[in-house]
Amino acid sequence: MPENCLFCRIARGELPTELLLETEHVVAFRDINPVAPTHILVIPKKHVPSLAGLEPEDQALMGELMAAVKELAEQEGLSSGYRVVANTGSDGGQSVNHLHFHLLGGRSLQWPPG
Ligand code: 5GP
Ligand code: ZN
Repeated sequence: MPENCLFCRIARGELPTELLLETEHVVAFRDINPVAPTHILVIPKKHVPSLAGLEPEDQALMGELMAAVKELAEQEGLSSGYRVVANTGSDGGQSVNHLHFHLLGGRSLQWPPG
């Protein structure tokens, strides 16, 4: 339920979290358990469970999310590259059921992931 959803609570300002970026529909903050020198989560303010829960009317929201990723990558100085990941569902390794994009950078990243 959105009332209890961790990322809804962060988006509502109920948990002390430094926001790196806030737009009308999007917020971004650092991952609590970073796996790269830059590890930022970019989320919609509204509760969307995952990429699989997107509706046709979320198209503009997706644009806003990706524009935020690009802006954050510039803010972080990731001029040599970065990775954007949306773990989706159990096979995708999603652990928080509120849509989020990981922005990872600051080191050379391996491929393929595990
Ligand atoms: P997922 O595994 O769903 O793709 O990503 C969830 C991410 O949320 C994980 O990387 C995890 O470290 C991060 N995370 C979980 N709880 C919190 C929290 O309370 N604050 C922040 N900033 N990140 C969190
Ligand atoms: Zn939520």
